[in-house]
Amino acid sequence: MSETFLSELTGSFSTPSGGNPTVAMVEAAYEHHKLNFRYINCEVKPKDLANAILGARAMNWAGFNLSIPHKVTVIQHLDGLGGGDTGADCLGTAIRQGAKTVTQLEILPRPTQERPSDQPWPTYPMIYRVSSAHEEAGERVYSVSTKEFVKDDLGNLVGVKLVETLLVDGKFQEVPNSEKQIPADLVLLALGFTGPEKSDLLTQLEVELDERGNIKRDHNYATSSEGVFVCGDAGRGQSLIVWAIAEGRSAASAVDRYLTGNTQLPYPIEPTARPMMV
Ligand SMILES: Cc1cc2nc3c(=O)[nH]c(=O)nc-3n(C[C@H](O)[C@H](O)[C@H](O)COP(=O)(O)OP(=O)(O)OC[C@H]3O[C@@H](n4cnc5c(N)ncnc54)[C@H](O)[C@@H]3O)c2cc1C
Repeated sequence: MSETFLSELTGSFSTPSGGNPTVAMVEAAYEHHKLNFRYINCEVKPKDLANAILGARAMNWAGFNLSIPHKVTVIQHLDGLGGGDTGADCLGTAIRQGAKTVTQLEILPRPTQERPSDQPWPTYPMIYRVSSAHEEAGERVYSVSTKEFVKDDLGNLVGVKLVETLLVDGKFQEVPNSEKQIPADLVLLALGFTGPEKSDLLTQLEVELDERGNIKRDHNYATSSEGVFVCGDAGRGQSLIVWAIAEGRSAASAVDRYLTGNTQLPYPIEPTARPMMV
């Protein structure tokens, strides 16, 4: 760990916050792994949420949880987000919570209306889908790549610079002179399949990543760092809730065996288990 007197800040914004024990658990974990992180439990009233978020940004917090009642309220502060299918969920929620404008950015070209010939039945085809959220509002922009987040003099996000892309032989090429800027107050990354965020936490835990950018684990859900286990999306890659639940149970069993040498806990799936494919 580097010698510094500046800690990385994380924490939780909620009200009432006094009964939330997360701080004790997370700080104990930080201390155990000798991470130079602090977790601060903050009492934030709904009327102060916007300022609390600005404050956390200004102090370069590494991240924060929003607990009751802010998990939903925070969405009013969104104006832009990126993504594909999962982004549609974000879009619908953002619209319902009163976002002013929402733009979805997609690097891939717009899919065709018809099933492509290389994706025959019964595979799940990549076609242009219009969900109920898309019918309500929002704009979808295809074949664009995000180049830069633009900030004002105070460091607040004000826009996103984009460039048009062409998919040539499976590789993205930028279209010359196609740069443009759209306004944005907040950007949500719904990119998918890019692995867990490569934060200082992962660096300091010294866990190895696999070739897809997910946290590498062995058949016991153990990472390359002694005593650190991984389950769910962080190890498997973006997936589904049923997989995360099954992996969580298996990992709990593996941890119990690691700590006590034995376990009675069920081990429903191996980390390598995959859905049935055609
Ligand atoms: C918008 C969206 C819609 C989805 N819809 C569906 C669906 O309809 N059906 C379905 O089956 N799946 C869906 N999924 C996928 C599903 O949500 C995930 O596969 C599942 O939640 C993975 O569970 P997990 O426990 O591995 O990770 P997560 O649920 O992501 O939990 C990880 C937790 O770790 C916390 N965390 C991260 N870093 C730190 C840190 N440093 N300190 C403390 N805490 C930290 C995060 O805040 C988060 O709470 C959707 C995903 C998204 C994003």
